[in-house]
Amino acid sequence: MCYTGDIRVEVEAVRDFHCCATCVHFTVAKEKGRVKRFCKRLGYETDPRWKFDCWTPKDHVLRLMKKEESKKGI
Ligand code: SF4
Repeated sequence: MCYTGDIRVEVEAVRDFHCCATCVHFTVAKEKGRVKRFCKRLGYETDPRWKFDCWTPKDHVLRLMKKEESKKGI
């Protein structure tokens, strides 16, 4: 069991979605003709596939995780 905010989700469901791209702090912006992917919380560039413990999933991702849980009968 994992706690993301006040919502409990199974660890298996988190594994499927856990990455910077699904985090509320992940941002994409175009700067000087270059696409920049960065974490607005930390202010650093990041890769959408990287995983960190500071992950805070977006609302729709939380809903998807809950849906996956119910599909798997967790
Ligand atoms: S570095 Fe942490 S807070 Fe920033 S986007 Fe990635 S998971 Fe989210």
